[in-house]
Amino acid sequence: MQEKTVASIDFCMRIVVPAIRIWYNNFELLARIEHCWVALLYEYYGGLQTSETGGILKERRGEFMKPVRLKPAFKDYIWGGTRLRTDFGKDCDFDRVAESWELSCHKDGPSIVENGEYAGLTLPQAIEKAGKGVLGSNCERFKDFPILIKLIDAKDNLSVQVHPDNDYAQRVEGEFGKTEMWYVVDADEGAQLLYGFKKEISKEEFRACIRDNTLLDVVSSIPVKKGDVFFIDAGTLHAIGKGILIAEIQQNSNTTYRVYDYGRVGNDGKPRPLHVDKAVDVTKLCPPARKPGPAGEPRQQDGYVCTRLASCEYFTVDELKVAEKAALCADSISFHALLCLSGDAKVVCAGETLPMKKGDSLFLPADSGDYVIEGACEVILSRV
Ligand SMILES: [Zn+2]
Repeated sequence: MQEKTVASIDFCMRIVVPAIRIWYNNFELLARIEHCWVALLYEYYGGLQTSETGGILKERRGEFMKPVRLKPAFKDYIWGGTRLRTDFGKDCDFDRVAESWELSCHKDGPSIVENGEYAGLTLPQAIEKAGKGVLGSNCERFKDFPILIKLIDAKDNLSVQVHPDNDYAQRVEGEFGKTEMWYVVDADEGAQLLYGFKKEISKEEFRACIRDNTLLDVVSSIPVKKGDVFFIDAGTLHAIGKGILIAEIQQNSNTTYRVYDYGRVGNDGKPRPLHVDKAVDVTKLCPPARKPGPAGEPRQQDGYVCTRLASCEYFTVDELKVAEKAALCADSISFHALLCLSGDAKVVCAGETLPMKKGDSLFLPADSGDYVIEGACEVILSRV
């Protein structure tokens, strides 16, 4: 190959490709250009056959961002406990560690990248540098990073609350609405949570219940145990009860309308604000359409069992119970977010080996390719 050709390819990669990325956000075209460039480059160096360029493209894309471990942001809300520190090994000095935001690009608490070339950056900063291609094609339709994954340790009851849907939240709050799902990681004997109304009520009755402190009479209280799953559509009134530790996968939003707070005061000694008018606007005044429970049956795979916990337009979540080894693939459609709930394992992906134990969160960029989880463990796998 001529030097001139190499120079023009180089120009293409330095100038044209970033321009496409910035101006058009056109990843399909970008991938095609990269594909040609990689094929030509390898032909020039005589390294590999063109039939292998698909694989090379993945390697090349992997250079944008390697799989990384994430350090969470923490919240010390008044109802929090200490188990995220004592049981899940979280490094946090708060007296109460109510929540760890495990995979977060939210301004109120982004995760931090722990390893690799972007170590020390927030996850949104790393994604900005690496290019939005690391999120996968399913994320292209979202203006902002679409999901937020948390661990929640409720030593005390959370307030009774509701979240708006996308339309309302974008109009009134300027952010995403919040549909969420809960996986009960652990629960004390007798623990309960609140999930929607027992039966349909009117707006006037809802207001009267809030005013008269009789809301708990009309809301469904459900006993929970480890492994239970709930899908909380935006507009469903809900509350996590005391003694429950939950993994929550939700839309990337921090908008909550509180309607009842058990007469408590906040960290500043004052009652936490209620948001009754907005809550009445957005709450679905009937029993939840979805029954509690996972979306799918457990499926035995080679070396692990996979259960679909939830799937909606914002996220798809699977529980993986790995006996020895699980072979998976982070394709071009979405990144994979792994949250380890028990065990001791390692993840081998894109030339990296990352240890993974209880409480760890890993982010595998889209197009990282085939990867393996080795070692007995229980993992929540979230994708878009
Ligand atoms: Zn909620």
